[in-house]
Amino acid sequence: MYSEWAKDEIHIDRLEVFAHHGVYPEETRDGQIFYVNAVLHTDTSRAGKSDELEHTVNYGEVSRFITKWMQDNTCKLLEAVAGRLAEALLLQYRRLSAVTLEIVKPFAPVKLPFGEISVSVCRGWHRAYVALGSNMGDREGYLSGALEAMKHHPLMEVRKVSRLLVTRPYGGVEQEDFLNGVAEVETLMNPEQLLNALQTMEQAAGRERLVHWGPRTLDLDILFYDKIVVELEHLVIPHPDLENRRFVLEPLAEIAPYFRHPVTGKTAMSLLKELKS
Ligand code: ATP
Ligand code: CA
Ligand code: CA
Repeated sequence: MYSEWAKDEIHIDRLEVFAHHGVYPEETRDGQIFYVNAVLHTDTSRAGKSDELEHTVNYGEVSRFITKWMQDNTCKLLEAVAGRLAEALLLQYRRLSAVTLEIVKPFAPVKLPFGEISVSVCRGWHRAYVALGSNMGDREGYLSGALEAMKHHPLMEVRKVSRLLVTRPYGGVEQEDFLNGVAEVETLMNPEQLLNALQTMEQAAGRERLVHWGPRTLDLDILFYDKIVVELEHLVIPHPDLENRRFVLEPLAEIAPYFRHPVTGKTAMSLLKELKS
């Protein structure tokens, strides 16, 4: 569960598990000891008031889950153990907003004097706003198909969907009207993974990139990802042109009127008002 303000943590320190991860054949054959340090990020305020176990994450259960996962899976790299286990925990325990996992290998096969080797990762839920558009063929079908694909994606949850809006095309290319909407999603993917997932959905809808701003079966753009700013060649967040697009701001303001653009500090509602006037 995405959380903006809870800074509470539950710590599990040095959980010892005998498992079979490693690059070398003898490691996967013979196994060895691992220690797991886990920091569970979860809002404990409700449990703090009620004093009821069901209102928090049960650290005993989590410890058993970690132990079983470590024993049931075999990875070559500690990076894979940490990353996959973190994801599995976040999907299993929905009260968690994030986890920090350190996997320690005290007897790693390094023929040098060292204390222990460990890899630590932090993973969590993020909130993103995705713009949906279509102006070819069964436009409604493409948009609802995209929403279904997002709902079924294992690392994604759709929280809110705006109404769909018919708009005249943008950018001066002669073509059919667009159907547009915006969805609020929570995801365990980072911005690049999210872009990849959305592009796979576009391709599944038969999208071909012919004319820029030209007709398309499905267009999925990332408007915002938390309050993060990304300035890569292939990915810019917040979406650079959203201030000028009524077909984005109107559905966005419907589902997230008070969401503030992380750079300009303006809410979706006031951006829409400015564009209208
Ligand atoms: P616009 O982004 O102005 O709405 P478009 O959606 O028609 O234009 P596309 O042809 O769909 O443009 O995408 C071109 C490229 O834009 C993609 O390949 C992708 O790498 C890049 N891109 C950059 N930032 C984003 C973003 N925030 N969301 C989606 N794609 C992005
Ligand atoms: Ca677009
Ligand atoms: Ca696009």
